[in-house]
Amino acid sequence: MTAKIVCLKCRNHLEALSESLKLTEQELDILQTPRKIIQFKVPLERDSGKKDFFDGFRVQYNNALGPFKGGIRFHQDTHLDEIKLLAFLMTLKCALANLPFGGGKGGIAIDPMALSQRELEQLSRGYVREVYQDIGPRIDIPAPDLNTDHIIMDWMADEYSKRTNKGLAGTDSKAALATFTGKTIGKGGSEGRILATAFGGAHTLKKVLETRGLETQGLKIVIQGFGNVGSHLALFLSQWGCKIVAVSDVRGGIYNKEGLNIKQALSKQKEKGQVPEDIKGEKVSNQELLELDCDVLAPSAISHQITPLNANRIKAKIILEMANAPTMPPADPILNKKGIIVIPDILANAGGVIVSFFEWQQNLKGESWPEKEVLSKLQNKIEKATEQVLQKAKEVSCSLRTAADILAIERLLKAEKERGNLP
Ligand code: NAD
Repeated sequence: MTAKIVCLKCRNHLEALSESLKLTEQELDILQTPRKIIQFKVPLERDSGKKDFFDGFRVQYNNALGPFKGGIRFHQDTHLDEIKLLAFLMTLKCALANLPFGGGKGGIAIDPMALSQRELEQLSRGYVREVYQDIGPRIDIPAPDLNTDHIIMDWMADEYSKRTNKGLAGTDSKAALATFTGKTIGKGGSEGRILATAFGGAHTLKKVLETRGLETQGLKIVIQGFGNVGSHLALFLSQWGCKIVAVSDVRGGIYNKEGLNIKQALSKQKEKGQVPEDIKGEKVSNQELLELDCDVLAPSAISHQITPLNANRIKAKIILEMANAPTMPPADPILNKKGIIVIPDILANAGGVIVSFFEWQQNLKGESWPEKEVLSKLQNKIEKATEQVLQKAKEVSCSLRTAADILAIERLLKAEKERGNLP
């Protein structure tokens, strides 16, 4: 799997926004400056006995609204600028969802696919040994991200509890548990977390459709990426009567203008580990898929898929950004000019961090909520955030992306003022 390198300067559209928000130089400066950057080497003793060292990062971008919050990724192309950008996006996402969290992100520059299970565990524990003094339930709360999952979070929470003596079964167990989200259910994870991002995206889409007097029934949907987010989104939307006409994974996709049988595609994917070729439909490349005739395109794989080169050929009426930064900033004006509604990443995929917030609350209170309760709370929160974005876009007469950014930045600046960091 390749990850596109995203550049802080090109996605950081704060300067572009500063005009409509009338930001002062001081405000712009506070928004553009990460609070703390931790850079270190993570040691790894290979199965062969050889010791290697890998670059590790944790960027604590902004904590005006609460503890830093954001995932840890393992990828060979991970670098500091990418982590800074993603930490900035997390800051906006948490502010937009009205969570009592700031934004952060971390990672290790390594290809985890080349590691044995023992090496992966050593690496995960090694990361925590480097940062444990800088994280905690009221300081910084990491989560899974690219190539890290609930098992890795369990190892990390365990290592944190050992380093800080906050034993998972002892009196301080709440602190250790609530330091990481995205854990397995048995180790303090939340019911509903696996569905959360897709569930949130589906409800955001429904709200946006409602304001235009549209229904989900019969809508033609194209989904790039058929992993956790893409496959659950396909299921939710097909249950609402949408026609999923194309899905893809890293190898390519399958298209049927009459609609794919999603349940069959999922069970075959489970069997074969990839988007099946033997269900009714024709093969398409990932590039062709983006340009298919449809009502909604949901990029749910990696960043920078919609570019200034292909934006003009996109036929979807709505783009639901489930991946982080799937649209390159210079493609945005082209999409706007074509009248395509873009539901921005910081809103569309906020369901994941909202349920992470619920996991943190459950851990701190020693509670465990049923899935139905988690999803109902998520639906309330994401619908409210969507209504606020739609309202702001109407007020300011701008795109949903700009409206979402404005709302998040207004909340951040208010919190900075309350903390005495701004006049
Ligand atoms: P995943 O690893 O489960 O699935 C990713 C899917 O994308 C797979 O089907 C993979 O084959 C496909 N893919 C990878 N590279 C591709 C490429 N070059 N072209 C086309 N398809 C490609 O990941 P996920 O958890 O489903 O996350 C998907 C996206 O959503 C990521 O951008 C992630 O950052 C974002 N996101 C996820 C969550 C979450 O809760 N999982 C929350 C917020 C944002």
